[in-house]
Amino acid sequence: MSAYASMQKDANYIDGTWCAADGGDVISVTNPATGAEIGTVPNAGAAEARRAIAAAEAAFPAYAALTVTERGALLRRLHAEIVDHADALAALLTAEQGKPLAEAKAEVLSSAAYVQWFAEEARRADGAVIPSPWPGRKLMTTRHPVGVVAAITPWNFPSSMLARKLGAALAAGCTAVVKPASATPYSGLVWALLAERAGFPPGVVNVITGSARAIGGELTSNPAVRKLTFTGSTEIGKELIRASAGTVKKVSMELGGNAPFIVFDDADLDAAVEGAMIAKFRNAGQTCICSNRVYAQAGIYDAFVAKLAEKAAALRVAPGDEPGSEQGPLVDMAALAKTEELIADAVERGATVAAGGGRHDRGGLFFQPTVLTEATADMRLAQEEIFGPVAPVFRFETEAEAIAAANDTEYGLAAYAYTRDLGRTFRLQDGLEYGLIGINEVLIVTPEVPFGGLKESGLGKEGSWQGLDDYLETKYTCVGGLTG
Ligand code: ADP
Repeated sequence: MSAYASMQKDANYIDGTWCAADGGDVISVTNPATGAEIGTVPNAGAAEARRAIAAAEAAFPAYAALTVTERGALLRRLHAEIVDHADALAALLTAEQGKPLAEAKAEVLSSAAYVQWFAEEARRADGAVIPSPWPGRKLMTTRHPVGVVAAITPWNFPSSMLARKLGAALAAGCTAVVKPASATPYSGLVWALLAERAGFPPGVVNVITGSARAIGGELTSNPAVRKLTFTGSTEIGKELIRASAGTVKKVSMELGGNAPFIVFDDADLDAAVEGAMIAKFRNAGQTCICSNRVYAQAGIYDAFVAKLAEKAAALRVAPGDEPGSEQGPLVDMAALAKTEELIADAVERGATVAAGGGRHDRGGLFFQPTVLTEATADMRLAQEEIFGPVAPVFRFETEAEAIAAANDTEYGLAAYAYTRDLGRTFRLQDGLEYGLIGINEVLIVTPEVPFGGLKESGLGKEGSWQGLDDYLETKYTCVGGLTG
């Protein structure tokens, strides 16, 4: 029996019932490290989505009416379920997604941390009493759950992306319909199992797998859904925003990134290399906040590149469940092909391969950690999200040039810089058009802070108090006739 058998649910969860797709169709789920089938999940469509929405709509009034103490208790039990089963959940995540087990465990524990954070935040969804400009009137605001929330999540962080959405929705008093990515559905379906065990009433959490277009079409057009929260590509995000316009839904979008990673001459070079390794190669570069473009200042360019190439070449590429694995497989053949294409384009335009450069000897979906030098702005990887283990290093001379190059993209999610100059640090804070900025640090995300992109990287924030705010509506009430 696998380490995750107890967490692997092969069915959808609608209105508190585990069910198959109406037509009995299934999708095969494979392990990207081996190509072996893990199992199958329902290939549901619009009809099942409609039923899930109806269940969430029916469950909403009673769930929203629970006290914050009661909702907080449910969330704390959900948190405990995740922590208690963290090892099995991590094994499941690695099996379907490929990342090293240590990264999977960290993701699962981060999911737990978000749920705990929102369990606490639920108590702070307060309103205000506003000083009245009129005699005999009281003006106040109250905050209310938006209603049924639809959540669509990607395959790169199949557990924690849902934690940020479900944690906030459930804390706010919303009910939810979730559609996880078809490549990694189990880490989504298991949320239903954990919610069921934690005692959430039927209909509060519904999880369906299957056709993105059919389910997405229903989730975006159904008037009962009051909010859509999505993490995925900018391209699909734009489609979903357009589709949500018909019923004027609130939307939260965590979309693509093209993170710059800037190393200045005055940086602690070893710390910068360490940071670049994590920011680039975590999850094999399949992270929306991972550095896409590395900019090194001319004075340290050669030294930085040499150290980075050495570290990259030494990275242990292996199946995620193999002890010591530091980089697992890519998610699928399309990802592998795109990574190859971007390298070929860069080399054709003058880049040099300093480490890696192609498929790994292990075969299958494994790819060599790659460092390219003399990258330039005309290369495709300067504008496109690589989503693979490739670090192109660009050369720059001045701070102004680096900031301008960093901002020369429609994306605005994460940016990193290494410098020991305090004045420069704050010029970067002002100058970088990014929602998340790490100076001398790359692991900067935690439930306490707002995660979200600027420009075409998204709308809304996840985590922090703002993460709850995005699931609440504000009502203003004026009570008059109070003069005696
Ligand atoms: P990525 O593949 O980079 O994660 P996508 O944007 O393609 O990004 O997918 C993210 C999520 O959006 C997945 O759950 C996917 O199934 C879903 N999705 C893709 N296309 C659509 C669509 N047209 N409507 C609704 N959901 C979609």
